[in-house]
Amino acid sequence: MIKVKVDRCGYCGACVGVCPVGAIELAETRLLINEACFDCGLCLAACPVGALKAEGYAETDVVPLRRRYDVVVVGAGPGGSVAAWEAAELGLSVLLLEKRQEIGSPVRCAEGVAHDLLMPFIEPDPHWISAEATKAQIAVIDDGATVARRAGGGKGYVLERRVFDRVLAEEAATAGAQVMVKTTATGLLLEDGVVRGVVARGPAGPLEIECAVVIGADGVESQVGPWAGLDTALSLRDTMACAQYLLAGIEIDSACCYYYVGQGVAPGGYAWVFPKGEGKANVGLGVQADLSDDSALNYLTRFIESQPDLAQGSPVTLVVGGVPVGSPLPRLVAGGLMLVGDAARQVDPLTGGGIVNAMLAGRLAAEVAAQAIAAGDTSAEALALYEKRWMAGRGRKMARNYRLKERFGPNERTSPDFLRVFAVAIGAK
Ligand code: FAD
Repeated sequence: MIKVKVDRCGYCGACVGVCPVGAIELAETRLLINEACFDCGLCLAACPVGALKAEGYAETDVVPLRRRYDVVVVGAGPGGSVAAWEAAELGLSVLLLEKRQEIGSPVRCAEGVAHDLLMPFIEPDPHWISAEATKAQIAVIDDGATVARRAGGGKGYVLERRVFDRVLAEEAATAGAQVMVKTTATGLLLEDGVVRGVVARGPAGPLEIECAVVIGADGVESQVGPWAGLDTALSLRDTMACAQYLLAGIEIDSACCYYYVGQGVAPGGYAWVFPKGEGKANVGLGVQADLSDDSALNYLTRFIESQPDLAQGSPVTLVVGGVPVGSPLPRLVAGGLMLVGDAARQVDPLTGGGIVNAMLAGRLAAEVAAQAIAAGDTSAEALALYEKRWMAGRGRKMARNYRLKERFGPNERTSPDFLRVFAVAIGAK
């Protein structure tokens, strides 16, 4: 029976089309081959990337390709791309690794960012902005009915992250970083417990990349930190399980971001409706993983059904994901390694927003890496400057927001006091 080389498969479906016995099924990003396969080999010829092999095919030993850089960044989300961009701008040789074949896709985000926080990084561009919001509204829902509303203002954007993330990686490349897609970091090169590089697997085979500093920006599913001995484990209490539809065919104010709180809507979390322009919106919610008796997706379905304006829309995209909403990690560095963004759990515990935090951390980490490399000292002690700078600024705010989240238990998150705190956190002044 034909086998799939998963590192190479681009999930294009060309093989499915030529199979004479219907033995191949493309299940989104998995290629399934069933026992009807009789090894005719037509699919091997149709595959554009050589991702299929015949039964009995002997893998020849592939010698890992060896390379060396100043900095290797794992993960091309906003945190990783800004780290790579900044490090390259500072004159370092940089490799940015991304396991997906298309940077920015699939999206795992509601795509909301505040204008003031984005500006220090990149000039807003209509190519990656779906809507500009100037208003916010928080509604309290009790037993299906809206019992209170709070309105505010504040300039922000709903991004098109599919484009935004790629533009950040393009900026990194323009600054001189080398970018490799469909290349997964699978481990670290360690010497006496100190990180000396990355082991990876790409379409061309295995890689061993030596470097002075690894920046782990590998998102909520991060493994880079644990590989270096850092404890990044998330409790259910500090995890928001999220589901979101991009709804088309709805009528909403395209300049307003809507938030809905209430235990029946999203236990321990909230629902959001963020405009995407032209009768579309990201409609989603996050539930605290230890509280919910049902899946986030089922909560979302019920929420949409309860809102006549939304119920008339059609879902054209489903987004699911987990958001880390714990207190700041005590350690973000090890010898030769720094963690940024979701990998470092740097998300705002009150709002679940993490895009600009990841970008800020990426920039700080790159600056500290450049200093450490110039001084010839990339030990944990030298890189701890990054932790200090993070905790002196945005990290301190995140610690405060975690304390506020803990101060108001899930049942108190519809109180006027909590709504005031929440309004400040979402930037609705
Ligand atoms: P990511 O954007 O997750 O990027 C990590 C990258 O690393 C990915 O591209 C991944 O493929 C890659 N990667 C992982 N492992 C490897 C590996 N081993 N080798 C190579 N590459 C690897 N934040 C906001 O600010 N506003 C919002 O409105 C908002 N809404 C959200 C809604 C939902 C449903 C969810 C789930 C999250 C939301 N967030 C929001 C959070 C936000 O998406 C994240 O905080 C942000 O993407 C973090 O950026 P990052 O660069 O740290 O990680």
